[in-house]
Amino acid sequence: MRTPTILISGASIAGPALAYWLNAQGWQTTVVERFDELREDGQNIDVRGAGREVARRMGIEDAIRAASTGETGTEFVDAEGRPVARFAAGTSDSGGATAELEILRGQLSRIIVDRTREDTEYLFGNQIVDLDDHQDGVTVTFDHGPARTFDVVVVAEGLRSRTRSRVFPGTDAVRELGFYIAYLTIPRTGDDTDRWRWHSAGSGRSITLRPDNLGTIRATLGFLSEVRGLDELDHDGIVTILRRTFADVGWVAPRVLAALDDAPLYFDAVGQARIPSWSRGRVALVGDAAYCSSPVSGMSTSLALTGAYILAGELAAHPRHTAFARYEALMRPYVEQAQKLPPGTPRIAMPRSRAGLTVMNTVLRIAGSPAAARLGGLASRWFTPPADAIDLPTYPPRQAVAS
Ligand SMILES: Cc1cc2nc3c(=O)[nH]c(=O)nc-3n(C[C@H](O)[C@H](O)[C@H](O)COP(=O)(O)OP(=O)(O)OC[C@H]3O[C@@H](n4cnc5c(N)ncnc54)[C@H](O)[C@@H]3O)c2cc1C
Repeated sequence: MRTPTILISGASIAGPALAYWLNAQGWQTTVVERFDELREDGQNIDVRGAGREVARRMGIEDAIRAASTGETGTEFVDAEGRPVARFAAGTSDSGGATAELEILRGQLSRIIVDRTREDTEYLFGNQIVDLDDHQDGVTVTFDHGPARTFDVVVVAEGLRSRTRSRVFPGTDAVRELGFYIAYLTIPRTGDDTDRWRWHSAGSGRSITLRPDNLGTIRATLGFLSEVRGLDELDHDGIVTILRRTFADVGWVAPRVLAALDDAPLYFDAVGQARIPSWSRGRVALVGDAAYCSSPVSGMSTSLALTGAYILAGELAAHPRHTAFARYEALMRPYVEQAQKLPPGTPRIAMPRSRAGLTVMNTVLRIAGSPAAARLGGLASRWFTPPADAIDLPTYPPRQAVAS
């Protein structure tokens, strides 16, 4: 039987994970990534519930644990850095704002890519510029190099995927949540802790610090804004907006703003992917390109790992058409749960008014109290959607390979 071929676009988490599982099924996998090399940027991400079970089945759970950021819990602080409420790290697969498995995004990506390098062809610094889906396959034109034909193409390009727009023209795939987050890496000082510390500064602004396993600190500056397109500004434009927005904020804001000139900075508008169908013809979507749930949910990476596992398992077991339908039927209910954000998100966590701030701090104090802990995970239910709300199928190794 002829070996089926697949082109996967995007080399972060979902793309390499899909390649991993299809390699095990005897497929010929190619991954194209528009950056010149594997991207190391990004901050702390969670691996929860079914995502963690998939990591276990990939044999990478220990590697993830070894690269843990070491975060011990979450603490909300006031403008002087005094604790308002504290929550321990999750002790189960799914509980708490700090999950039991926390790792830097770039390190998880490298762990998965390293397990695929022998069998997968990686094309860095290139991208799809056109696709022609016909009865013998999909002929792909690249930015550089000759056109090639594949049996299947899967788009794993993240929330703001361009190839998705080519495949589903006119589809409004992103539900904007109305806020932005700047992610920076700054030097660690003696005052820093191993907790995720979070300060809501009023006027829809928040500032957070998290530990990493590299001896630095990961800071975020988040703010509500109705203005679209700030993420398209250049570096200097973004720095100017951040300095203006956080000028009167207390706690560590002056330190983080001072670091803006030199710190590696990643700035993004926060949103979710909401698409009525995840495939068309021979092309499918996986990970954030299909069902980003946003950093607020802490579920995007777990969805990406789970989706890649199921899509690969179905493609190896069924003709392509059936496989895509089964992938969607299995994943949709799980995705819908993960995309349900706590009521009032993001406004409740980033209140605009002084009264809103007082309500939020009161709720946090109650949720973080020993009495609430005895009531059983009130805080974890508030922070995160259920991460294990799917029965993961088991796929035998080396099944049918036709599509
Ligand atoms: C640089 C970066 C930093 C991140 N930081 C955080 C963070 O701090 N916290 C958090 O919760 N989540 C973060 N995320 C998102 C997180 O990785 C995802 O939510 C989740 O892991 C699912 O990953 P994914 O592989 O589906 O998509 P993503 O992780 O978004 O990866 C998409 C990949 O596709 C590539 N790509 C995009 N367009 C094209 C194209 N046209 N052709 C080829 N390749 C393309 C991108 O360069 C990227 O490598 C970050 C993502 C990236 C890319």
